[in-house]
Amino acid sequence: EPLIPWTKHYDSEVAITLSYPEITLDALFHRSVENHAEAIALIFFGLEISYKQLGLYVNSLATALIDIGIQKGDRIALLLPNCPQYVMSYYAILSIGAVVVPVNPLSTEPELLHIFRDGQVRTAICLDLLAGRLENARDTCQGAGEHHLLEHTFYTALNEFMPLPIKALYRLSRKISREAKARLAQCVWFRTLIHKGTPLNHTSNLDLHQDVALLIYTGGTTGKPKGVMLSHYSLVANATQGAAWVQMGKRDRLLAVLPIFHGFGMSVCMNAPLISGASCVLIPRFNVDDILKGIHRFHPTLFAGVPTMYIGLINHSHLVDYNLSSLRGCFVGAAPLAPEVKHQFEELTDSKLMEGYGLTEAVTALCANPYRGINKTGSIGIPFPDVIMRIRDNVTGEIDLPPLEVGEIVLRGPDVMLGYNNRPQDTASTIRDGWLYTGDMGYMDEDGYFFIVDRKKDMIITGGFNVYPREVEDVLYQHPAVKEASVIGIPDDYKGECVKAFITLRDGATVKEPEIISYCKEHLILYKVPQQVEIRSELPLTAIGKILKRALREENSGVQAHP
Ligand code: AMP
Repeated sequence: EPLIPWTKHYDSEVAITLSYPEITLDALFHRSVENHAEAIALIFFGLEISYKQLGLYVNSLATALIDIGIQKGDRIALLLPNCPQYVMSYYAILSIGAVVVPVNPLSTEPELLHIFRDGQVRTAICLDLLAGRLENARDTCQGAGEHHLLEHTFYTALNEFMPLPIKALYRLSRKISREAKARLAQCVWFRTLIHKGTPLNHTSNLDLHQDVALLIYTGGTTGKPKGVMLSHYSLVANATQGAAWVQMGKRDRLLAVLPIFHGFGMSVCMNAPLISGASCVLIPRFNVDDILKGIHRFHPTLFAGVPTMYIGLINHSHLVDYNLSSLRGCFVGAAPLAPEVKHQFEELTDSKLMEGYGLTEAVTALCANPYRGINKTGSIGIPFPDVIMRIRDNVTGEIDLPPLEVGEIVLRGPDVMLGYNNRPQDTASTIRDGWLYTGDMGYMDEDGYFFIVDRKKDMIITGGFNVYPREVEDVLYQHPAVKEASVIGIPDDYKGECVKAFITLRDGATVKEPEIISYCKEHLILYKVPQQVEIRSELPLTAIGKILKRALREENSGVQAHP
């Protein structure tokens, strides 16, 4: 029986509510430790860590952090890929009332400096391979008199928790640069830190609704990334909603290949399973082979990915040789999923692919197609319990546009952020009258299912006509030679902007640009047809695997459509 019956949400303020425990996320994780002590919490290559063991690591790390002087509200950056140390650090930091600052470990030095300064980061836990970059950033801060930044840096090797002798451990990290090695000679290792810890007294003086638990950087399409401040309550709410949506339980096993330093990976692939007594298979690298091998070897029941992962899967030459029958549900979100990709995936694998939608400003996923019930192709589904989504008319400002009318998606719910760090004006323009303005254009159908048309700022205006790139991309994905597609507007003296498509081709395909343009002419009204098509061997991707339109736009900012 479905736990969450879905309804036409639009007329009722809240269709269904869940109760969210008034405790921190780490306390909720410790409940799993009590209830499922012997069950496996984490799987990392050959290593299995039980809930009991993970709970001990979390506690001892928490006290070790207190022992070195970390206090409530201090910000601690994690520069780690998916690995057990990430999970331990995350819950340990939350449990002492400090703030987790997840950082993409591949960030450049200027990106790191921006986050460290804007976020006032006092401590960092980092992968050994990145020691050179982190220590250089620390030198820059210290040199500028910012002595309170990066007071402590701790390092860990990816295999630090694997049952390997120390020598083998160094052999495995041989890719480390000479600079990083020199820096590491004086470093404090995570393992030493974790073994120092003594039993923990949980911090009790936290305001679950107002204190920042997580400071996570997002955006950067216009200017520098903004720090989103999320409360303990919003983390608990989002993980609870996600877990309830798919009825996650102790028999589940989730393949976590999405980076857990991004909201989607963090809440869906780490927090939801670990508050449900499920197991989490951590995969530190994002490539199609690792996903297939991971599913084949570890038999996950649930999988979540971004569209580019599914594009990679349907184009994998040996997809059918892998046994994917353990999966009971596959989820996709974070970027538009072309209907063609969904069809092909479902046909090739016999699995059901459910699309969802969310944004960092409200942790992550906030709506999805229901696990039991109608799974609509092209739709982002229906809102999670306690999330209210509405369509707002951009011209009149009216909220509650009737079904099928396009406007901006606005939403409310326990997941919504406290605000942007140090940016009161941005906060005030994003949260108005209690509504979070998502910047995404969409509509709702008569059944209460939502659809994304595109991002407001991605819309192309060509000769006075509005073109949503997504519509053009969906057509391109139907062409049998096209593997990936991304459409942007490029400057045009005559029309203001004109449509340009970037595509990559499937293995063995040999199509030329004019054929793609003719194909689009067959399927689209003329002003939406790309005037230029560029075939590339690959498209730029963000850390989570979204096609990076910003990079394509920057490259083409000086290009005239009609020189
Ligand atoms: P992030 O904060 O990195 O999670 O990015 C959030 C943005 O990703 C949203 O504002 C949307 O523009 C986009 N997004 C998320 N899910 C979807 C989806 N299912 N379809 C289209 N765009 C999406």
